[in-house]
Amino acid sequence: MDLMYNSTRNAGNQVTASQAILKGLADDGGLYVPERIPELDTPLASLAGMSYQETAYAVMKQFLTDYSEEELKDCIRSAYDDKFDTEEIAPLHTAGDAHYLELFHGATIAFKDMALSILPYLMTTAAKKNHETHEIVILTATSGDTGKAALAGFADVPGTRIIVFYPKHGVSPVQEKQMVTQKGANTCVIGILGNFDDAQSGVKRLFADKTLAQELREQGFCFSSANSINIGRLVPQIVYYVYAYGRLLKDGRLSAGEPMNVVVPTGNFGNILAAFYAKNMGLPIGKLICASNENKVLFDFFETGVYDRNREFVLTSSPSMDILISSNLERLIYHASGRDAAANAALMRQLSESGRYTVTEEMRAQMCDFAGGYATEEQTFAEIRRVYEESGYILDTHTAVASSVYHNRFAGECGSVPVVIASTASPYKFARSVMTAIDEEKYGVMDDFALIDELQKLAGTAVPRAIEEIRNAPVLHDTVIEKDEMEAAVKRFLLS
Ligand SMILES: *Cc1c(COP(=O)(O)O)cnc(C)c1O
Repeated sequence: MDLMYNSTRNAGNQVTASQAILKGLADDGGLYVPERIPELDTPLASLAGMSYQETAYAVMKQFLTDYSEEELKDCIRSAYDDKFDTEEIAPLHTAGDAHYLELFHGATIAFKDMALSILPYLMTTAAKKNHETHEIVILTATSGDTGKAALAGFADVPGTRIIVFYPKHGVSPVQEKQMVTQKGANTCVIGILGNFDDAQSGVKRLFADKTLAQELREQGFCFSSANSINIGRLVPQIVYYVYAYGRLLKDGRLSAGEPMNVVVPTGNFGNILAAFYAKNMGLPIGKLICASNENKVLFDFFETGVYDRNREFVLTSSPSMDILISSNLERLIYHASGRDAAANAALMRQLSESGRYTVTEEMRAQMCDFAGGYATEEQTFAEIRRVYEESGYILDTHTAVASSVYHNRFAGECGSVPVVIASTASPYKFARSVMTAIDEEKYGVMDDFALIDELQKLAGTAVPRAIEEIRNAPVLHDTVIEKDEMEAAVKRFLLS
């Protein structure tokens, strides 16, 4: 029996894993969730001896049951290869009293590579299985990192095209340069005059537009998504939590069955939701600590049970977390409501109409594994400095938000339980913020690539290929549009 997937907004809408991956978002606007969370059927003790690829297979076969063993192993082998600069794929680096799970060793040096390296393979396999003959158009909204990782994954993949919308004034210089220099005839990158929420809402509207879908189907196209609303993003993200547990076991930091805590710098709630799934598969995770930057809508939600996006959108030094509508929270709300699609749909309607909803006390009780924290810009910079001065290890700004939240709010009460902090980006991607955090007077005046060279001297790690590649690369995409021109831009790219 295959594990089926339901929409969070309509219990009747059931599809297989490969169909859910192909579609991205359900027709009713809901997100696909597995009808139950499968068990990890690998004994915990044996995780210590497993490679990343073996761990990936052990996790993914439980969720993607309509893929054959051979298909899944092919996808895994093609994804987690020398695109990553370490055979470990996701090494665990211990600094001070924390273990940083480095998720930035892929092609675009942010954690999005962990899932977006495999999504194109899962998607093209799904297209074959389901006899999809239309060209798949990946529509993506990005707060900076998903865009490049999705472009790198889908560039020149036959049978696909990819369109990325990013907030023109809301990403770091390196993030923008990475995207606008993307090669590949099937790629399209567009800046919008708005923030990430505008980009994400615009993409969701395009998905929901039945007339547009029909018109494009007639021209040979169908839409899918590379955002973490696609279950094909979430499942591969569960893997590295299981892998991290195996590393802690191997290093003798805990014995099989003992818990670890995880801290995740959060924006769209995809990464931490994957940790929640890992826990519900049976992985011993104690607390799931959700770390926000100054856009602390999730912190307030976990404190009060009220989700309220009616507030100022703050541009911070951790742009990939500058989000006020965290899409994947919908999946948690659905679980917490006892899989009540109608109740969830009502809350989501409130969110789109008034920007706000309140969950019941019973639902809050279902979310008690989560704890929230946030770091101000000042605290984030102070954390980069502290960790560097105490251990010589350099955190990027997003990871520093998580690290700050842990040290300032949770370290005391967590005692000796080992903590895994998701390290979501290479410091090279945010060199300006990182270096000014370390010494503003000295580095504040230098240009971006000079800062990268200085960072290399301090960190002693090689400058990643992803950075070298963009140093002199020509800009290939320079379209900038108003946020209400997204549909026209899509048609221009596909139909001209
Ligand atoms: C995307 C991203 C995040 C946020 O992850 P979500 O899954 O959206 O919560 C954090 N840090 C970095 C560097 C990212 O790219």
